[in-house]
Amino acid sequence: MLTVFLGPPGAGKGTQAARLAAKYGSPQISTGDMLRAAVAAGTPLGERVDGIMKSGDLVPDDLMLEVVEERLDQPDCASGAILDGYPRTRGQAEALDPLAQRIGQGEVSLVLMLDVPEEEVIRRISGRREDAGGGGGRDDDQEHVVLERMRVYRELTEPLVEYYRDKGVLTEIAGVGTVDEIFDRIDAAVRENLSG
Ligand code: AMP
Repeated sequence: MLTVFLGPPGAGKGTQAARLAAKYGSPQISTGDMLRAAVAAGTPLGERVDGIMKSGDLVPDDLMLEVVEERLDQPDCASGAILDGYPRTRGQAEALDPLAQRIGQGEVSLVLMLDVPEEEVIRRISGRREDAGGGGGRDDDQEHVVLERMRVYRELTEPLVEYYRDKGVLTEIAGVGTVDEIFDRIDAAVRENLSG
């Protein structure tokens, strides 16, 4: 079974996906982390995506599909995975279901949308930048890049909320409160999905 996290940059997808992965023993597939690792290691993929990531834009769908397909084909994903950061466009979402079926996971069965107001997202990302200290942190947490990431999110990723709502697999989670409170809401949604 594949579980997908959706939500704006800074919504807490990575933090919550990691907790869910730990609780259910499912691998967390964070495309952002995978791409950052490729950049850090200087692989051909990393060289291709470095500039795109620094500008806050999206890596092309065909390249992302290759990355995700290769990862989902690994044995630890045989009984499912938690996707954090994929899909991010309609094209990616449309490519994911046939891929999920090919690897025996059926269609995406649960999409957790973390709802966080935009002002809160910007406040959190600025905090992430300050916590990291001058010069540290993610390259793409600089203010102008954050604004571009938000624009890209609204234009290309937010439409997936309707896409998955229409398929009947969307659960909206209030992404405000403490990390524990948010996780409890997510876990309740997952348990309901498992029992249904
Ligand atoms: P994230 O850590 O999920 O915020 O991702 C950081 C950056 O990696 C994004 O701003 C994109 O440039 C790139 N990226 C991650 N996942 C995807 C994806 N599914 N499609 C396109 N680009 C992605």
